[in-house]
Amino acid sequence: MNKIKYCPKCKEYTLEEVCPRCGEKTVSRIPPRYSPKEEVAKYRRKLRRDILKKEGLL
Ligand SMILES: [Zn+2]
Repeated sequence: MNKIKYCPKCKEYTLEEVCPRCGEKTVSRIPPRYSPKEEVAKYRRKLRRDILKKEGLL
């Protein structure tokens, strides 16, 4: 998740090197709300889904 860019002009996050809205060059920045904890939670949810799927097949 180190590809997140930020446009200082629009104050918005994007994945583009250049802001799709204003054309300003974006800078690398991690959103303040993003935390490794969230990433772990996401992974756990995915894992749980995979397990349920597997059980459904049995
Ligand atoms: Zn912009």
